[in-house]
Amino acid sequence: MKLVKKMPLIYFIFVGITSGLFSLATWHQWTSLNSSYELQQTYAVNRFASSVDSLLGTQSMFLMFIEEHILAENGADNRDKTKSELSRLVNSNIDIAMISLYLPNGQLDLSSSRLNVEPILNLLENEETRDSFKQTLNSNDMVLGRTYRVGDRGQLVFPLRKTIRTATGEPSLVISMALRVNDARLFNDHQHYADINVLVLLRDDGYRQFISSKEDHPNAYNIKPVLKTNQLRTAAVDYIKSRYPFPKTKYKPYQFYTGRSQVVTARLDSYGLWVNSRIFKSDIRAEFIPAYLVQLFVFISSHILLHFIVRHIIRKEMKRQGDLFYQAHHDELTKLPNKQYFQSNLSKWLKSTRRPFSMILINIDRFRLINDNYGHQSGDHVLQYVAFRLKTLLQNGDLLIRYTGDEFILITSKTNTSELYRRASGIITALGLPYKLGESELPLSSSIGIAKYPEHGDTLTLLLRSANIAMVNSKKERNIANMFSFSMEKSYMHRLLIEERLRIAAQEGSFYMVYQPQIDTQNHLYGVEALVRWEDEKLGFISPDKFIPIAEFCGLMPKIGQHIINTTLSEISSLQRELELPFQIAINISAQQFCHVGFFEMLLEAVKHNKVAPTLLTIEITESLFINDIEKVLPILNQLREAGLSISLDDFGTGYSSLSMLRTLPIDELKIDKSFVDDILNDVRSLKMVQNIISIGKNLNLSILAEGIEIPEQEQSLIDCGCDLFQGYHYSKPLLKTDLYQYVLDKSFNLNSQ
Ligand code: C2E
Ligand code: CA
Ligand code: CA
Repeated sequence: MKLVKKMPLIYFIFVGITSGLFSLATWHQWTSLNSSYELQQTYAVNRFASSVDSLLGTQSMFLMFIEEHILAENGADNRDKTKSELSRLVNSNIDIAMISLYLPNGQLDLSSSRLNVEPILNLLENEETRDSFKQTLNSNDMVLGRTYRVGDRGQLVFPLRKTIRTATGEPSLVISMALRVNDARLFNDHQHYADINVLVLLRDDGYRQFISSKEDHPNAYNIKPVLKTNQLRTAAVDYIKSRYPFPKTKYKPYQFYTGRSQVVTARLDSYGLWVNSRIFKSDIRAEFIPAYLVQLFVFISSHILLHFIVRHIIRKEMKRQGDLFYQAHHDELTKLPNKQYFQSNLSKWLKSTRRPFSMILINIDRFRLINDNYGHQSGDHVLQYVAFRLKTLLQNGDLLIRYTGDEFILITSKTNTSELYRRASGIITALGLPYKLGESELPLSSSIGIAKYPEHGDTLTLLLRSANIAMVNSKKERNIANMFSFSMEKSYMHRLLIEERLRIAAQEGSFYMVYQPQIDTQNHLYGVEALVRWEDEKLGFISPDKFIPIAEFCGLMPKIGQHIINTTLSEISSLQRELELPFQIAINISAQQFCHVGFFEMLLEAVKHNKVAPTLLTIEITESLFINDIEKVLPILNQLREAGLSISLDDFGTGYSSLSMLRTLPIDELKIDKSFVDDILNDVRSLKMVQNIISIGKNLNLSILAEGIEIPEQEQSLIDCGCDLFQGYHYSKPLLKTDLYQYVLDKSFNLNSQ
């Protein structure tokens, strides 16, 4: 998870680094391309400079030769000889177009040429030659004149001049030799090394002496370069002088850049010449950019590809983790958010919001029985139905959670009490509709607890606890909803304490039995009802009315029930042996105990173990047993009767079953509830009810037992109705085994009549 979260950052760092490296590489390529051009230009400049140097050196020696050997030997007077000598020299040296002699006043003296051109008649009067001629007169060395065109072909030549002086040093003649620029061996080859390169031989006075380039420059020799170039040249000279002081080195190429070009320059100091090589930066760029664009394209497209790969990986991973998160936070069966979701999200939510809301905790009643009776697969089906029905009831902003196996939580923003009760009863109704399981249709009820935030708890734990307390309160009656109240909490705490003590008691078996006699119409002892008692060290005496529902709720009843059966059978069988008086033993069996796996076998085992005749045993069950699952209950009832036991239906008339239902039930006895007996003397409806129960019971061949008889008038009224058996304080309170022994002796029931 962490790596994926960091992946975008890693990716951006990677892109940053590679972009940096790419820029560096590009920069490196650019600078090396520039320096390679620099190198090539330097090489060209070097080569050209040295060639020019040696050419001019040779020509300067040639001039000296003319001066010393031709003119000195022939003298100024022997003009014809001199002229023919000169023309011989011109013809022998193909680099030379013409040799002329001038007087110090600029006038042509004589001339010899290989071209059909006329020499300039007066060098001082000619604009192009004036300055250099004056310079020649003042110098003892060879002086280069400006390049000019001659002949019909407009051939380029440049003049090399030298002054011949008298013994006193006065100028007597000036030799002017025209060097053919185009045809000279040095210059007729292209000196620039590439099309984009221009090589120029520059004069100190700013005029060009020679240009080598791809293009022709017809007027280039008459134009003086702009000032800017002169300034640069000055800078270059300063630089070169500072680094390579003259005359140590003849020429030393120097590289520099102007706004538009890369330039390499070298100075031929002895001739006042510069060799300049230049390439436009735009030409270098034009070479660089296509290759760069290809690289840039590859770079960008590979990054785009990488971007998509990384994005794909991140998305896939996020989705995978999202799925994992979903799986961890949702219940697979109902697809609802689960407890984990609830705990992690709601706590966060509570911290961020203070808005009131309500929690509706829904618990399916006796869900365990569905699993036990129909199997877990059916249980799962029912839960799916439940979740589906709950979902259909959801309103905007509601959150439904499957909290535990059969517990759902609905979070709603509503906090109005009556509205909450309305919603809860809607839920109870919806969940109360029968569930189809194969052939059978199963009714289910639910108990609901409601708690409000923050009124009933300002943390998740407290709120949940309050909702749970309210729900447990609803469980007492089932199929109802309760809103949490603080009085509930007290009874809940007490209940929790009972639960805790009950677990210990169940473990230690610290219960005891009392027996309440049952009398027949002849005033004989018919039997006893075994009733359990619990006196806890801490809590004192707790009535079975109170602890039995709790024991049922927390699943302790089968264990406690087994203890009750064993104690009762062992005590009563020994009592019967002592008294030699057989009588019925009625044992109350709770629904949970009855439905517990192996109940029947356990009971028979206990009967056998205590050597009790099965016919003496009556099982008291209540109608609530039949709302569980009649199809599973009936076979066990039948088995019990086949084994010889009797079945008594306790608290009859208080529950749901109708009188007509009795027909189908395998029972032997009806027990009229104490509430009818209580009112029999002053409420006609109770009397009518008792009469009805008795007549229908008789019709079905059932014996009728009335309980809770406290006064003789009640007994009489029941006798009048045709009741067979009687139980109540009027005869005896429930008694300990020893007290029962005494009671039987005191009443001196006729032992033989049984
Ligand atoms: P129940 O089965 O209806 O038991 C009769 C209850 O009525 C007993 O209360 C009994 O003491 C009381 N009683 C009998 N005659 C009179 C009378 O004339 N006046 C008054 N006021 N009460 C009378 P108890 O023992 O407190 O038991 C209460 C309930 O607890 C029982 O109702 C039964 O449902 C349950 N219970 C008691 N013992 C056991 C037991 O061993 N196993 C099971 N599963 N339930 C038991
Ligand atoms: Ca009973
Ligand atoms: Ca009863």
